[in-house]
Amino acid sequence: NDSLATVDPEIAAVLDDELGRQQQYLEMIASENFVPVAVLEAQGSVLTNKYAEGYPGRRYYGGCEFVDVAESLAIERAKALFGAEFANVQPHSGASANAAVLHAIARPGDTILGLSLDHGGHLTHGMKINFSGRLYDIVAYGVDAETSRVDMDEVRRLAVEHKPKVIIAGWSAYPRQLDFAAFRAIADEVGALLWVDMAHFAGLVAAGIHPSPVPHAHVVSSTVHKTIGGPRSGFILTNDADIAKKINSAVFPGQQGGPLMHVIAAKATAFKLAAEPEFTERQERTVRGAQILAERLTQQDVADAGISLRSGGTDVHLVLVDLRDAAIDGKQAEDLLHEIRITVNRNSVPNDPRPPMVTSGLRIGTPALATRGFGDDEFREVADVIALALLPGADVAALRARVDALAGAFPLYPTL
Ligand code: PLP
Repeated sequence: NDSLATVDPEIAAVLDDELGRQQQYLEMIASENFVPVAVLEAQGSVLTNKYAEGYPGRRYYGGCEFVDVAESLAIERAKALFGAEFANVQPHSGASANAAVLHAIARPGDTILGLSLDHGGHLTHGMKINFSGRLYDIVAYGVDAETSRVDMDEVRRLAVEHKPKVIIAGWSAYPRQLDFAAFRAIADEVGALLWVDMAHFAGLVAAGIHPSPVPHAHVVSSTVHKTIGGPRSGFILTNDADIAKKINSAVFPGQQGGPLMHVIAAKATAFKLAAEPEFTERQERTVRGAQILAERLTQQDVADAGISLRSGGTDVHLVLVDLRDAAIDGKQAEDLLHEIRITVNRNSVPNDPRPPMVTSGLRIGTPALATRGFGDDEFREVADVIALALLPGADVAALRARVDALAGAFPLYPTL
């Protein structure tokens, strides 16, 4: 018997425990999701054994005839799903996709303009000790202090002043849609390339319920594991043939060796599922769920506790709770929600008065619960539980019972 439970019972126990946690808790980390069993199957397959440096039909290893089929399917499905002329599906993660993008379209020392981390940008958009901040000369734009929205006049002012080589539009914590056409107009005005990182909202784009960056950007990067709900990994799209060549060379051999063929096969499956009507319906439930959460978290009892939402609401799959004027801080709120079995992450707000390990914000997302099957009624219930949890004197046991009832009504991975 060479099963995991026999070979390595300690790791087998981790897998069991984690499955139990995912089943028992309500997952509301905005960047997480649950992959379908079909994706687990592709990802946990013998394709992990195969070296396939190069691209389909142009490999540096023999025996690639079958993995070539998987990668070609992933490429064609990604292109069709997003209406792009080129796709590279080899990046191991979102961060490695982003490293490849910069490697392809900029040189170390070039000026890059991106959304700052503490205003909702990603580490790879220029954070000081990330490769992006170390290799490139970073200028950051922020969100408006009043509206919490990206101010395009400010983006233009910085672009005109600093003449960046690349402008990045994209975010990890921002509850609104960006104006890609306006970004492109600014990029064209100053001779910059526009790179959109749609890692978070790619699923909404695939479903047609969020504007697509593909017609506007010179290059688009993404993850597959957030709103799309596929395997943990990245991909890159462009309609520019010259940039396409540079992207392929930047990913391999520029940055990676052998692609993860088991993950690429799982990506192909995820892209196939993302073209189905059920996927669109799930993305619609996802955004409605976030809006239901926003409605509840802007009611009077919550406002009276000094709790508000950044930008006052949401157009996407997450809300950002602002606790700057509340007694409870980000860490306490995250811990309290964990106690009632809701998983979220604390998040800095711009000019956060509390330190980064504490913070004055929460990021709460709905993709995983929508995948679990939640509709308006369940999102209303979970929104009420969260609101009451954040108010002083929360009845933890009563709230946990309400969470348990929701989790019990929507079994996750019942066949595993
Ligand atoms: N880009 C954005 C906008 C993200 O939010 C993230 C992940 O949080 C990434 C890139 C990086 O993805 P990964 O964690 O797969 O490296």
